[in-house]
Amino acid sequence: MELRERKTQATLKEKITDHYRNRDFSPQKKDVGKLGVMFFWGMTISLFFEAQFVLIPYLYSGWHMIGMILLAFFTLFGTFINWMGMFTGSTGNVDKDSMKKHFPDATETPKGWKFCPTCQVDAPPRSFHCSHCNACILKRDHHCFFSNSCIGFYNQRFFILYIVYMVWGNIWALYLQITYLSEVYPLDSYFELFSFFPAVTIVQFLLGKLAMLNAILMIHIALCAICLCAALFFLFFETILMFKGMTSYESQRTGPIYDQGILNNIRSVFGPVKTIPLQIICPLFPVDQQNDGCIWENTRIKSH
Ligand SMILES: [Zn+2]
Ligand SMILES: [Zn+2]
Repeated sequence: MELRERKTQATLKEKITDHYRNRDFSPQKKDVGKLGVMFFWGMTISLFFEAQFVLIPYLYSGWHMIGMILLAFFTLFGTFINWMGMFTGSTGNVDKDSMKKHFPDATETPKGWKFCPTCQVDAPPRSFHCSHCNACILKRDHHCFFSNSCIGFYNQRFFILYIVYMVWGNIWALYLQITYLSEVYPLDSYFELFSFFPAVTIVQFLLGKLAMLNAILMIHIALCAICLCAALFFLFFETILMFKGMTSYESQRTGPIYDQGILNNIRSVFGPVKTIPLQIICPLFPVDQQNDGCIWENTRIKSH
């Protein structure tokens, strides 16, 4: 009976393999992802230069100015490192060795694992194939629009810190922009707040009622406000998911079935909790996640 089941499973696997072998799985939507990358870097670089050459020199002087310039470099550095961590940390982390490492004698797909017909590998629990990255991603959370890469086991901490930098960067940028603009372009009435809608800003600029620098600043303010709202939402959502030990997919389908308690859940993302402040200051800080992302205990099965 057992032999017959194994044979049926193997045949099914072969059928699936044959079915998918000749299909084209090359990434289809990379260009959409590139738009997100271009938007992110366009905003980041333009905000950096705006702060360095317009806002900070106007608002500060002496040592205060030098301190603020260094703070801008620190913010850019942290954003860049976390973005690079997101960009490089997910693809290619499930391969044929993943199963051999944990089940050296296995001839069939281990229990809880699943065979990916595209990658032709047995993939661990919580991993999913991403058609954009064309790879199976360990503990896949989602495909990120701003880095055009998947967020998973190895780069979730960079993603969360990246959002922390987004929240900080946008709040600081808004503070500098609004302080500057309130001095060089004071509003006569609340009605003039309509000027901050990008379409109205552009029309006013084209009509010659707004200097180019002020128009750029006002568009930046609108975009920063939108980015800040999005970053706050993602920070809240991702923190809750991390505390519960869930991925976005699991939050919609299965619930917290790999919940190991809040501290262990945080450790599996950031490593030792006491290193988190150091990771915020220097994202290059080495991390030991105490797991390789392949073995997950299904706590729901255990409790029954
Ligand atoms: Zn795959
Ligand atoms: Zn992806």
